[in-house]
Amino acid sequence: MLVWGSGGNSVEAVRDAGVGPCSVCQGNQPFRILLNYRYAHLWYLFSWVTKRQYVCQCTRCNNGHIVEPRAIADKLGKTDPIPFMRRRGWLVGLALLVALGGAIAVFAHQHDQDVATYVDQPRVGDIYRADLSKVSKGFTQAPAYGLMRLEAIEGDQFVFRIADKAYTGRKGVGKDVTNRAYRNAQYFSAEVVRLPRQQVHRLHEQSVIYDVDRQTATP
Ligand SMILES: [Zn+2]
Repeated sequence: MLVWGSGGNSVEAVRDAGVGPCSVCQGNQPFRILLNYRYAHLWYLFSWVTKRQYVCQCTRCNNGHIVEPRAIADKLGKTDPIPFMRRRGWLVGLALLVALGGAIAVFAHQHDQDVATYVDQPRVGDIYRADLSKVSKGFTQAPAYGLMRLEAIEGDQFVFRIADKAYTGRKGVGKDVTNRAYRNAQYFSAEVVRLPRQQVHRLHEQSVIYDVDRQTATP
């Protein structure tokens, strides 16, 4: 969900802007310079300034007039009076997104390596995600994304039990894994498929088998 908004604020840019005539107070008064600004934000974090306006203001009656930044350049300090996160929040947000993207890429790569290892060194109980239409005769429509459980390793043969139902998208399969629906005794049909090791490797290379999950600790 996109949460965006905007706001504005006023900060003192120059406390002592000298003494000058005020048209309201009649007479010379000390002036200060205010900075009125507007900002926009996404998710409150990605914030940036959209408008700056300097106002020279009488400190006695608050009467003021807009001044060009160029006209008061010598009075303005080096530090921007607008809070850092209002000005540069978008940079911080961007840096966080980049870091998050990097972390996700690292995890995805790690998982890919794990899956390659699982296929290489299979263990009974491993849960394979695959397009079952390429593996089983039970599914005529392609694709049929679903699970198969490694039941046994007999010599060079991987023995799988095939899920009773499959999905047209991978999302449904992911849900079944997250919910551990495959632990239900009825989740798999009676169908057993034997695949030679080489074929399992090939199916993995072709992404017909696109993921493998292994329970590292079974309570
Ligand atoms: Zn005044």
